[in-house]
Amino acid sequence: MKEVTNPVSASPAITPAQFVERMERGAASAAAAGLDGLLIAPGPDLAYFADYLPIATTERITLLVIPAVGEPTMVVPLLEHDSATATRAAGAFGIVDWADGTDEYVPTAALLERSGRYAISDAAWAMHLLALQQKLPEARFESISRALPMLRAVKGDDEIDRLAAAGAAADATFEDILSVRFAGRRETEVAADLARLLREHGHSQVDFTVVGSGPNGANPHHEAGERTIEDGDMVVLDFGGIMDGYGSDTTRTVHVGDPTDEEHDVFEAVKRAQQTAFDAVAVGVACQEVDRAARAVIADAGYGEFFIHRVGHGIGMTTHEPPYMVEGEEQPILPGMCFSIEPGIYLPGRFGVRIEDIVVATEHGAQRLNNTSRELHIVR
Ligand code: ZN
Ligand code: ZN
Ligand code: ZN
Repeated sequence: MKEVTNPVSASPAITPAQFVERMERGAASAAAAGLDGLLIAPGPDLAYFADYLPIATTERITLLVIPAVGEPTMVVPLLEHDSATATRAAGAFGIVDWADGTDEYVPTAALLERSGRYAISDAAWAMHLLALQQKLPEARFESISRALPMLRAVKGDDEIDRLAAAGAAADATFEDILSVRFAGRRETEVAADLARLLREHGHSQVDFTVVGSGPNGANPHHEAGERTIEDGDMVVLDFGGIMDGYGSDTTRTVHVGDPTDEEHDVFEAVKRAQQTAFDAVAVGVACQEVDRAARAVIADAGYGEFFIHRVGHGIGMTTHEPPYMVEGEEQPILPGMCFSIEPGIYLPGRFGVRIEDIVVATEHGAQRLNNTSRELHIVR
């Protein structure tokens, strides 16, 4: 569930000047990529550039046009004019209103060049893009994540502070969950505890509460089900959401009672892989090297075929975004990039182990934004 009030300020302590800077950087990135501009639709992109999360993200078009050269302008439904001009970024862009009963794509298209090339938010509604394509048959539109994947990837200090605070809240949630009863309760009950604790520790939105017990832990996308947790289960706990506009995402694997030698060995392999990947983070290193570092450790331990996903993803105003720590991603790591490191081993039908921290890349290597113990915790 998303809790929203109108108007929503996405990032309360970010100053108006910083939104101007973001738009200027966006325009410069567009120009450098040979684009004529960015078309920013409601969602995390619009919150990032214009501090605006319209409550009525509907069939009515709202679109911030950031031209490579010139002033940014937001196309806004007339009835939402006051909301759009009440944000911290107001004044940093012009406003073009359109009223119900008129063709909203006429004023929108008027802001674009007839045969221009634009990157548009991934979350833009297809109906709006298709209508713009019809108005401007010679213009070309690309997905912003394809054209400029790293647009929001390098975080400012203010953003890193928020990610650290969200990480600390997730850590506090984990510390608290260690004292709840696991054995004899359903996964969904522990998941509800996680969601409640995330909110108690300041989250406004809970995005996922994975509780993968026993064989369910071997499915990395299992959320939480009706299975009753038993003594002897490994339990993967992966949870996060949004606090103060920024995301949290951490995983710890706990065991109900004493683990077997095999469970212990699998856990230790994942823990070593997580540390090795963490140590591999350095400015200038390709993202794929972080994945390779974790994968080599797990392969050496004999579990290579059971590590079935990339090792990490970026995080910011959403819990999954570029940069991806994955084979084939040659983007060099830059200071200020924030991403997860989350290797896992999944033994089908038996159990799974995953350990995940969010880290920020600095000139001196990675710094963790999750700091709970990475040892195997024994729960009741
Ligand atoms: Zn066990
Ligand atoms: Zn996670
Ligand atoms: Zn993650």
